[in-house]
Amino acid sequence: MTERIDGHTILIGLMAYPIRHSMSPTMHNNAFAKLGLNYAYLAFEITNATLPQAVDAIRTLDMRGSNISMPNKQKVMDLLDKIDPAAEMTGAVNTIVNDHGVLTGYCTDGTGFMKSLEDENLDIRGEKMTLAGAGGAGTAIAIQAALDGVKEISIVNKKDAEWENAKRNVEVINSKTKCKATLFDIDDQATFKKEIADSAIYCDATGVGMKPLEDLTLVSDPGWFRKDMIVFDTVYAPRTTKLMTVAQEAGVQHVFNGLGMMLEQGAEAFKLWTGENMPVDYIRDLLF
Ligand code: NAD
Repeated sequence: MTERIDGHTILIGLMAYPIRHSMSPTMHNNAFAKLGLNYAYLAFEITNATLPQAVDAIRTLDMRGSNISMPNKQKVMDLLDKIDPAAEMTGAVNTIVNDHGVLTGYCTDGTGFMKSLEDENLDIRGEKMTLAGAGGAGTAIAIQAALDGVKEISIVNKKDAEWENAKRNVEVINSKTKCKATLFDIDDQATFKKEIADSAIYCDATGVGMKPLEDLTLVSDPGWFRKDMIVFDTVYAPRTTKLMTVAQEAGVQHVFNGLGMMLEQGAEAFKLWTGENMPVDYIRDLLF
């Protein structure tokens, strides 16, 4: 690292709170080093209260950009000059690019999800997806999948604080894309099972299965899955979630955790900042 940093090094940030646990600095700095790019990526503890000054600093310090995470992904949208249409539809920004003082916001979580499937030679365009969750990850996945040509998305959610957001996602998708989206109450188990039975992919974007809920899964009956479908959990700690175990018991061929999505959302941001492809396989081998 010290060998790389000089008077020309360009800074990229990560603005969130809490953030010290993040893998992103390690991921990006190793990728810069591997490709010999003169950038440095640092994490900053930034809350909603300090976000305006932090975004101003991107311009003042002529940083190339920043990642944005909770609790700032929505709030940052008011502070930028331009918002990419997919990020606008998602209602969240996780990446800022600074082009000579003009700040543009992007959301790479959804593209990261789609790219991680592409990496496995899987194409869900024209297919039906059942998606549990309509929070940050669920929204990004639903919007990008609809934009990329997934034919039908059945969103299942609890009638909790995110229910209104799930309704909004369905409205946005149905009014702005060719995809047909429908919302179901996750407690209607018969409908939940039927929607999965009709789908090419079931994706869980709820965080159920992540520590400390690692013993839980929203689908516990292997009979709900078909061997020829895809089962995708956005969780990557633990690496094998309870949901994945159930899918494996069912003999499902394509079962994934969220690691590929995490790497590819980073790679999408890396490309926006540097114009280069992140060496994803190298980073995966190095870090995971
Ligand atoms: P969030 O809090 O914004 O949304 C959570 C969603 O899950 C909501 O729709 C909520 O209604 C639903 N939910 C919560 N508890 C539930 C339960 N017990 N039963 C049914 N539904 C429930 O969270 P988020 O930021 O969208 O993150 C969700 C998961 O996705 C987390 O595990 C996170 O680590 C993961 N994630 C992964 C990546 C990646 O790159 N792999 C990126 C972002 C998030």
